[in-house]
Amino acid sequence: MASFLTVVGIRLPKKESFIKGRSHCDSCNNVLKWYELIPLISYIIQLGKCRHCKKNIPFRSFLYELFTGILYLLSYIKFGLSINLIICLILISVILIVIVSDIEYMVIPDEIIIISIIIFIILNTIKDGFYGFGMSIFGGLIGFIIMYAVKLLGDILFKKESLGGGDIKLMGVLGTIFNYQAIVANIFLASIIALPYALYVTVAKKDGIIPFGPFLGLSALIIFMFGFNNLDFLDIIYNYI
Ligand SMILES: [Zn+2]
Repeated sequence: MASFLTVVGIRLPKKESFIKGRSHCDSCNNVLKWYELIPLISYIIQLGKCRHCKKNIPFRSFLYELFTGILYLLSYIKFGLSINLIICLILISVILIVIVSDIEYMVIPDEIIIISIIIFIILNTIKDGFYGFGMSIFGGLIGFIIMYAVKLLGDILFKKESLGGGDIKLMGVLGTIFNYQAIVANIFLASIIALPYALYVTVAKKDGIIPFGPFLGLSALIIFMFGFNNLDFLDIIYNYI
């Protein structure tokens, strides 16, 4: 799944097919054999290099596979065989695609936004019936509106574009599985996690532009997996701070 999702994240923004085309080395285009495609193990055996051209395979591909595996396992331990497990697995998958394409190209593909909104609304409807359907659509709108308000405020404060359209749409996606307290908590948590990196980028690169999607995604995972999305936001403050 991690290898497939990484390919989606890399090829979708370039409008390339991610179903057609065999897996190949990005440097020498050699089509990979099955034993070169074993997750984690092939990377370790080949010492992170292509067997043909000896070019380095990016270490982040290894990390994507490792973390996707660990997170899939953790979500099964947390939720067991349930609808929440399916929601969590899809959330992890969407976030991996967002991380890959936001880091590579600073974009979040609209196709991913639309497909994940539809899937999450359907799953919430299966979970809670008509109530789930309504809450999911309402949450999505709230996520979009709150993030758009943050962007407008940021644009005024910093007198330049503060948030990309992809980040606002991603918050709409997360809203379909979160209540409004979790949406607010998610934006706060993502900002706190991103702060050290943002300070580093501002000092080192001077442009101060960072992909915010990965941080929104990671904090959404933390909130979803620790069940904060089911708590009243005030309860979170009382219980954890
Ligand atoms: Zn190669």
